[in-house]
Amino acid sequence: MTILDGKQTSAQIKEELRVEVEERKRKGLKVPHLAAILVGEDGASMTYVNSKVKSCKAIGYDSTLIRLDSAISEEKLLETIDELNDNTDIDGFIVQLPLPKHIDEQKVIERVHPEKDVDGFHPENFGRMALGLPTFIPATPNGIMELLRRYEVPTEGKSCIVIGRSHIVGLPMSILMGLNDVPGNCTVTLTHSRTKNLKEICQNADILIVALGKPEFVTGEMVKEGAVVIDVGITRVPDETKKSGFRLLGDVHYDSVAPRTSFITPVPGGVGPMTIASLLQNTLKAVKRKE
Ligand code: NAP
Repeated sequence: MTILDGKQTSAQIKEELRVEVEERKRKGLKVPHLAAILVGEDGASMTYVNSKVKSCKAIGYDSTLIRLDSAISEEKLLETIDELNDNTDIDGFIVQLPLPKHIDEQKVIERVHPEKDVDGFHPENFGRMALGLPTFIPATPNGIMELLRRYEVPTEGKSCIVIGRSHIVGLPMSILMGLNDVPGNCTVTLTHSRTKNLKEICQNADILIVALGKPEFVTGEMVKEGAVVIDVGITRVPDETKKSGFRLLGDVHYDSVAPRTSFITPVPGGVGPMTIASLLQNTLKAVKRKE
């Protein structure tokens, strides 16, 4: 069993990016600039955005964090997005999700200019991804593809089961794994909360990608011997022994599943760090597209 080490791989990608930025500086080329909008004070969202900003600094990107009150109107948020769309120094930006209930997330996603949509959530970019055209691929699926690529995990002709059909993880993951590409060329089944016989379906998976947000949902008896298991789930569960007061659990019951697998991502240190590395890669792509 090989652990797909997202922490180490993302550190490697960040180092590659740092070197490239240094090279760009030497040549007088533009330094990538990523901006993030954070609405409200959700603990997990604050942690994610802070680590995105910190990673930018570490590799020499410019970064801007715009914090808005949770009571901000939808109109005001859309105006802020327009400002970032028009700001020529900012190459790409993200609006950290989820947003407060009074704001229409889809409207927000569609307001971000596709050329600055480094999260890859805009329908235009999503459509391009589905067609296998050059675009920004959403950070989490892109990070998973990068892990599979760098560890040379065989995917061609394999049966791939994805649990969860969210627009940010499960759905794009199912599309990417079915494309005629490497990694890719899988026979894909996309499952969700209405799927019947999920356990039996999972037992047939050569590659199982789990993104439903239910801690330790997938257990050993659901996994075929030798399968590749990608655990996207991150749930904070209270833990008094930790300084933070919580620990992170994946959607996979690691202890019963890992011994059966050929490759597996741990939580934490698997998919999570890859997501940030992908966002940074997309931001560099945004700058290069304009050159
Ligand atoms: P989401 O939007 O809540 O979607 C969950 C999906 O799981 C839905 O499609 C839902 O089906 C399906 N589902 C729920 N219960 C199910 C069940 N019992 N059996 C089968 N399918 C079921 O979640 P998400 O945003 O994709 O996130 C999923 C997990 O990944 C969360 O733990 C999240 O924190 C984590 N995540 C991690 C990263 C990272 O960087 N590592 C990034 C994003 C998300 P329906 O469509 O039928 O409701």
